[in-house]
Amino acid sequence: MSTPEHVNCLIIGSGPSGFTAAIYAARADMKPVLYQGQQPGGQLMETTEVDNFPGYAEGVNGPQMMMDLEAQAKRFETDVRSGWVTKVDFSGELKKAWVGEGENAVEIHANTIIISTGASAKWLGLENEIRLRDIGGGVSACAVCDGFFYKGQDVVIVGAGDSACEEASYLAKLCKKVTMFVRRDQMRASKAMQNRVKAIENIEIMYDTETVDILGSDGVEGVRLRNRVSGEESEINVTGFFVAIGHTPNTGMLKGWVDLDEQGYIVQSSPGTTHTNVEGVFWAGDCGDKVYKQAVTAAGSGCMAALDAERYLAEKGVH
Ligand code: NDP
Repeated sequence: MSTPEHVNCLIIGSGPSGFTAAIYAARADMKPVLYQGQQPGGQLMETTEVDNFPGYAEGVNGPQMMMDLEAQAKRFETDVRSGWVTKVDFSGELKKAWVGEGENAVEIHANTIIISTGASAKWLGLENEIRLRDIGGGVSACAVCDGFFYKGQDVVIVGAGDSACEEASYLAKLCKKVTMFVRRDQMRASKAMQNRVKAIENIEIMYDTETVDILGSDGVEGVRLRNRVSGEESEINVTGFFVAIGHTPNTGMLKGWVDLDEQGYIVQSSPGTTHTNVEGVFWAGDCGDKVYKQAVTAAGSGCMAALDAERYLAEKGVH
């Protein structure tokens, strides 16, 4: 068996949080090694236009932004590698991680680890939903990112949690009408959030309602829906289809090693920092943030994680 590689700062994940952590860690001479994970570039690789990341006056497309971030991290000699971490062991002072599966997995020992594995939006799984999402044809899981493109238009949003309510209220300020599909006869969202959407005039809430299909070949033209009680099907004309049915944080491999909340998000051991319950292990981005979930907030926490890791190393006297 070969001797495990020893690195100073291991960054797991390559979204805006991972690359920002890498930029800061590299400039602090922490010689970061970044593993890109199963979806190099993260959720922004599924986005078309990004108009809300500061600094891009004309907007930028998601994949281009991730290439820019990667190039910036490499400019300061971040060691960017393909491969994903499948297992960790945080029982000792040196943190252990395995890249790859089974016998071929490569063991790495790290003084510090920054976890920036992100979260994945949940989708309904309908064929036309995925097809139109992939061609940038009017299907989105982020109202804050894409709502602007539907100014003055009619849209549907699916979901009944706090996120769906928040996104419906956001869309209502831009769109002519927002129709909210709630699959049960009640919402899951907090009463305060429910009251907020119920008070907005241009939001129509349809209970017991599920999506049968999304209509349109190059862009959303309408939605076919079914009332789950009567079984009756009908169609409405809309140009945007938003899905807000939750996210899954990519933290499965951390179970048992890092404190996670009931939904799998990493718990901040000290509020306002990126510390986890394990010394030397830090979180950044959507794997520890279920509220803001923006590229710019992910980048911000990536910066914080690198600074927290740098301070940790300085306190330990590791250079
Ligand atoms: P939640 O898991 O809370 O809600 C998901 C919603 O989507 C549920 O209403 C669920 O319906 C519905 N849903 C799931 N699958 C489907 C499906 N296939 N078809 C139709 N509907 C479906 O996720 P959120 O993202 O809303 O929230 C995640 C966490 O973040 C929560 O703890 C929330 O409180 C928190 N949050 C807090 C905010 C704040 O404080 N400002 C803002 C946003 C989120 P059903 O109810 O029938 O299961």
